[in-house]
Amino acid sequence: MREHVTGCARSEGYYKIDKKDKLKYLNNSRAFAEEPPADTQGMSIPAQPHASTRAGSERRSEQRRLLSSFTGSCDSDLLKFNQLKFRKKKLKFCKSHIHDWGLFAMEPIAADEMVIEYVGQNIRQVIADMREKRYEDEGIGSSYMFRVDHDTIIDATKCGNFARFINHSCNPNCYAKVVTVESQKKIVIYSKQHISVNEEITYDYKFPIEDVKIPCLCGSENCRGTLN
Ligand SMILES: [Zn+2]
Repeated sequence: MREHVTGCARSEGYYKIDKKDKLKYLNNSRAFAEEPPADTQGMSIPAQPHASTRAGSERRSEQRRLLSSFTGSCDSDLLKFNQLKFRKKKLKFCKSHIHDWGLFAMEPIAADEMVIEYVGQNIRQVIADMREKRYEDEGIGSSYMFRVDHDTIIDATKCGNFARFINHSCNPNCYAKVVTVESQKKIVIYSKQHISVNEEITYDYKFPIEDVKIPCLCGSENCRGTLN
């Protein structure tokens, strides 16, 4: 592990971890040897380790991003959601030190702001299971499926926005929350703290514990080492 010269991981921001060092964390070196497959739009880039590193675990559905934060919405959430629709935060996606592509702030974002909606198709478990199998067959994996509740999943695999580029961090600057807008459940990424220009947007994926581990390369001092 790198020594933090300032004594505080947060004040050091995200720093580049050399590929050689990253490989030390990984059992399967294919993770960085392979380029992720691009779909027809050239936009399908997994936000976290490629499907090949996850082979062996059959029940992908168990691994989708579970939401432990509360799912209630209040008036201020709705107000902010409408503001977010009216004026979107300036964000960009570019190469990340954490993994492949990431989402970055192009303007300062205050704490407790809605940063971006996690847009995708709202599907039920039965459809998610079918798509999951199809995506596995196509080699896409199901890393863009986001669980809202026990029977609602937001699938951003083929129909999503920049939010799907957001990387996981064990010390994130954002968190995901479900808000209900006109009886539709939506996932919104909120800022936990002030976010500076060019800072990468991250949140904790909160994957459940599994035997087959996905290594975490977030680089934060309190990194748990694995995503699940
Ligand atoms: Zn981590």
